[in-house]
Amino acid sequence: MAPPLLTAQDCEGAVHLIVGSNPLASARCGKSIEAGAKPKIVAPTNSEVHYVLAKLIEDGQVQWIKKSFEDGDLTSQGREEVDYVVDAVLVTSSSNTARNTHISQLCRRKRIPVNVIDAPNLCTFTLLSTHSDGPLQIGITTSGKGCKLASRIRREVAALLPPRLGEAVERLGVMRRRIWEEDHKTYQYGGIAQEAEDDDAPSQRPAFNRLVSEDDVGAAKTRRLRWLSQICEYWPLRRLASITDDDIEAVLQSYSSSTQQLQQPFDGASLNNGIRAKPQIILAGSGPGSPALLTMATHRSIQNASLILADKLVPAPVLDLIPRRTPVHIARKFPGNADAAQEEFLQLGLEALKKGHTVLRLKQGDPYVYGRGAEEFAFFRSHGFTPVVLPGITSSLSAPLFAAIPPTHRSVADQVLICTGTGRKGAAPEPPPYIPTQTVVFLMALHRLTSLIDALTGAVSTSDPSEKTREPKHWPQEVPCAVIERASCPDQRVIRSTLQHVCAAIEEEGSRPPGLLVVGWSCQVLMDLNGKGRWITEEGFAGLDDIGGHPDLV
Ligand code: SAH
Repeated sequence: MAPPLLTAQDCEGAVHLIVGSNPLASARCGKSIEAGAKPKIVAPTNSEVHYVLAKLIEDGQVQWIKKSFEDGDLTSQGREEVDYVVDAVLVTSSSNTARNTHISQLCRRKRIPVNVIDAPNLCTFTLLSTHSDGPLQIGITTSGKGCKLASRIRREVAALLPPRLGEAVERLGVMRRRIWEEDHKTYQYGGIAQEAEDDDAPSQRPAFNRLVSEDDVGAAKTRRLRWLSQICEYWPLRRLASITDDDIEAVLQSYSSSTQQLQQPFDGASLNNGIRAKPQIILAGSGPGSPALLTMATHRSIQNASLILADKLVPAPVLDLIPRRTPVHIARKFPGNADAAQEEFLQLGLEALKKGHTVLRLKQGDPYVYGRGAEEFAFFRSHGFTPVVLPGITSSLSAPLFAAIPPTHRSVADQVLICTGTGRKGAAPEPPPYIPTQTVVFLMALHRLTSLIDALTGAVSTSDPSEKTREPKHWPQEVPCAVIERASCPDQRVIRSTLQHVCAAIEEEGSRPPGLLVVGWSCQVLMDLNGKGRWITEEGFAGLDDIGGHPDLV
């Protein structure tokens, strides 16, 4: 069965017809009243009425229709504005199955939501086990599998929340509204050097809307809203729960939209909440693919940056973490265009920095491992913006790890060499000599795998004449190797083989970039071909999401 669609219903003024007068009817009435509905119970005069319910009737909060249920009640007991059709029906006794089935069918026909106790098949809606804390409502359903269990889960979830979280939700909601209104007013004035007239917000400082250009309006707006979404995302719930009006006032002040603020020298104080008053360029590595492998510093930069310039290899799940409002440019690199694309990127970054933005240059893997990171560092530094560089998990070491290949292993491999299969202007670089205790990781090599393997093993390549002139390196054909593609992505693939057969394997299996080649005896420390043929292919990545519990509730 498909899971139900959970919704929050506005019941203000709705008529809920409750069939029965037992303790459950009493509880149902209580819930209806809490939600602003008007419950009516239908039960014969001589019915036993639960004492809480009796009190609600006495107080006039519940109306008692003293008779047995009749079909006509559905279309006569409701509100006038909906032609007296009741808004929902709740049947509270399971003893009369025939009658309950009849009521359920009738309601379905008339599109009246109906709930029948202990009969999931007769219900068109079920009630959630709820935790209420002001505007914060948490509802649990087990989709009819057990209301006791739902209530237990609800209690456990609620117990994990800090006290007064509802109040914080209220306060943050007010803040959001206020920011929105401030910005909205500003835009009405065209965004040019105007102060909004403010009639009913005495605490507002006039500097709040002292704007100079539309650019600044946009930037300030983005900064404040980003701060808000930042704290909602990152602050521990306990800290959020204790947010005060003063905190909010301080934020509204410090992220006011004056350009003067943008030009103030950075004193380091604003780093903590991630919004900076000074332009900054961050060169950060995004790891091999899985967002779980981002460093916290890079993750924070993704949330804070006002412009992101991303490599085309940065995978979609990482890009998905970028807040919706943040502009992102993805490098338009393709063969033959790499230098132009790089130049375009550097200029984009520079322009944004000159306007006072926080620019994040998001690179794949680690920024200094074949990532032109140092070139970019030098470029920005020469223009007066020295980048902050954040490391990333490099594919060259993590891809082997996810393929169960330890690049070093006692008595097998005591050194690792990371090299590229593609030299400058596409030329083939000198292949490394055979050192039995070395693991070699080749990046950017799979598109010329055959000529690389030929160069390593000493076979003469017919496809690449430049190889003929070189000294063969004589790697033995039986040296194990692995091609690891899209490491840490859901479609990760590992092909284990030997230098002798790896080209045939890739020819047959095709390629799935980005991928790398690992060569050396370390490839068979934990995994062995063990006579399973010329190669084996392993598909998929187990994922990292289930590791270590759920951070939000800790
Ligand atoms: N700075 C990056 C490497 C950039 S060069 C890093 O540290 O990982 C790009 C090469 O990295 C690709 O051609 C490929 O060989 C390798 N690569 C990047 N991501 C990879 C991944 N998820 N799985 C396998 N290889 C990857």
